[in-house]
This record gives sequence, structure tokens and C-alpha cells, in this order.
Amino acid sequence: MARSVLVLNSGSSSLKYAVVEPDSENMVVDGIVERIGEGQVRDHAEALQKAFDQMAESGQRLDTLGLVAVGHRVVHGGPDIYRPTLIDDALVAEIDELSALAPLHNPPALLGIEEARKALPDLPHVAVFDTAFFHDLPPAAATYAIDRDVAAQWQIRRYGFHGTSHQYVSEQAAAYLGKPLESLRQIVLHLGNGASASAIVGGRPVDTSMGLTPMEGLVMGTRSGDIDPGVLVYLWRTANMGVEDIEKMLNRRSGVLGLGGEIDFRILHQRIESGDTAAQLAYDVYIHRLRKYIGAYLALLGSVDVITFTAGVGENDAAVRRDALSGLAPLGIELDERLNASPEKTARRISADSSPTTVLVVPTDEELAIARACTHLVEQ
Ligand code: ADP
Repeated sequence: MARSVLVLNSGSSSLKYAVVEPDSENMVVDGIVERIGEGQVRDHAEALQKAFDQMAESGQRLDTLGLVAVGHRVVHGGPDIYRPTLIDDALVAEIDELSALAPLHNPPALLGIEEARKALPDLPHVAVFDTAFFHDLPPAAATYAIDRDVAAQWQIRRYGFHGTSHQYVSEQAAAYLGKPLESLRQIVLHLGNGASASAIVGGRPVDTSMGLTPMEGLVMGTRSGDIDPGVLVYLWRTANMGVEDIEKMLNRRSGVLGLGGEIDFRILHQRIESGDTAAQLAYDVYIHRLRKYIGAYLALLGSVDVITFTAGVGENDAAVRRDALSGLAPLGIELDERLNASPEKTARRISADSSPTTVLVVPTDEELAIARACTHLVEQ
């Protein structure tokens, strides 16, 4: 029997699961339990049971899967924890302490961890942190220009997120090109509901767009990305909005949804076609910010060997890719329109043969990357 890893990504209202065979890269089963806390699924314990039931319905019984570990995606590892780590009570307590830094993300991850440890007590459970890849960002990129004592006291730095994806995709890009990772200057654009960019030299990140929290940087499905901190102060002082109202607005009612009333880019495009000016503005703001980051990272890197698009929007939306890179031929970036429009689902080149910078689309696979991290760890 091939060995496999159960990968869990536990959010506040959803539990994503997958069983992956890291050696064959085969995804045995995957799915999602949604609307946790809204009636049918009362809490994370019930959500996990439902995930097991769904797996059984698709013919996959846990005891016959050859599971060697359970991998948990944890968003925030704080300043000190970043390597994939075996979960014990002490680690649970540490992740709990970090909830102050990631109040929206770490508490639900912990609920998932606790329930899974109860349900599968004989397997090693491993935490894989979304911040890991960016732990060693150069200080100039990791540091906010604020009072250094305040920053130190409150562990305020730029941590970066989506690290598992940025690392995996940058490695896949090198493999696709048949070039050593060490030789490449890369920009990776992870454009899903959450969105982030990274600049990577020789396999190590030199900058990334997310910061203390996953709110900084690009315009996202429901998050604002970069914003003048003065807006927050103004909302608090003058508009009388409380901290939680402000946080909710910036996280859930901003971004493409907040501007255009829609999170799904397929529908956003339809609305633009039908003359919806709010949808058009949402798209324009999204593209404008994306181009600014690409330009900033071009300047940081000096020259770029490969730009890679990944995640739901990046992998599927040819218009976003075209508009993000249009007019950049003088900077050595030129798409091939036919390749860009191809609906293929595998890793592929979309730049013109003559383009000095190669542009790729590479499907991300965070579950596989987490499963691999788990088997590396439990084999040691
Ligand atoms: P998450 O960040 O939640 O993991 P994904 O990476 O799966 O999200 O991205 C989901 C988003 O991808 C959707 O909200 C939608 O906007 C976009 N998307 C998915 N499929 C397509 C498509 N065929 N064309 C354009 N956008 C798409």
C-alpha cells in the first residue's frame, strides 16, 4: 500500500481536507466541509466527522489508506516557529499564544488540530506554517519603518504568507525550465481569493507582499491589501467604527468584492461585459496594484528570469495575466497571446519565444507540499 498523508486546512467556517500520496503525487481524495457553526455542522468536531464520512462515501476508509501522518496548515508561526514541527501539547500552547498575532486564522487551525489529534491519536500530527518560507526575509524587506521598541515589544515585522505555495511554485518553475533553482531570479504571483507576490533569488525570498497579517499587499477577493494606515485611524476616530468593524470591513468587505460586489473573477468579467462600471473599477484597481508590485520587484531584482502565475485567478484568468503584463516588452516581458489563452491545466509557458523573461502558469499544490514536508519530518 502506498503511504499517504491526511492534510487538513481548518478555517473559521470551513475545513478543507485531502489525502495525498507524496511519492506518486496522487491526490487520493479531497473535499471541503463548509458553513461550520451555521446549523448542520455545529463545530469543528462535527466538521471533521463529516469529512471522514465524505471520504467513506467516496470509497476511502481512513484505516485502509496507509496514512503515515496528518499535516495541518497553520497560518502564523510568529517569529520563532517556522519549520514543519511535530505537534505536541507544548506546540499547541505556542500556536495558541500566537493567536494574538493571527486572531482570524490560528484559533480555527487549533480547533482542527485538537479534533484531529483526538480522532487519530496514533498518528504523528505535523504543523506546517504559511510563514515558514519567508522567515529569513532580508531585514530591509522584513522591517516596518516604525518605532523599533514598539516593533520589538509586539513582534511586529513582515512575516509573509502563502509561503508553502510560493516555495512549491518557484521549485516547480525551475524544474519546468530544467534550470537549477539557485540560478534563477523569479517573481511568483499567487492570485487566489487571497493574493500575494514574492521576489525570489536562488530559491530564497527577498521580498513578499503580505506582512504582519495576510492583509497587506495586493488587492484580494475580499481584502483591501495596501492601505494608508491613516484610513484606519480616521475610521476609528471620525467614523466611530470599532476595531472589529474595521477589521471585518478590511478583511471581508473590501478588495474586489467591496468595490465590484463580486468575488469570482468569472462573474466579474461578465459584469464588466454588461457595462457594470463598479465591476470595471474593481478590476482596474486590482490590475493597477498587481502591476505596481511587478514593477517594484523588477527593480528589486534588476532582471527577472521567470514570472509565474498560480492559484485560482492566476491559473485560469488569461485576461488578468495579459493586463498585468501588457506593454512591458521594453522591460523584456512579452506574452504569446495564443499560449496565454490556452485553457491547459498543467504547468506551461505563456511568454513569446523572443521574450527574455519567461512567463509561466504553474498550478499550485499546497496539499502535496504539506504532505511532503510531513513525510520528510516523520522519516527523520
Ligand atoms: P483560495 O485562495 O480560497 O485557495 P483559489 O486559489 O481556489 O482560492 O482561487 C479562487 C478564485 O479563483 C475564485 O474566487 C475565482 O475568482 C478564481 N477563479 C477560479 N476559476 C476561475 C476561472 N476559470 N477563471 C477566472 N477566475 C477563476
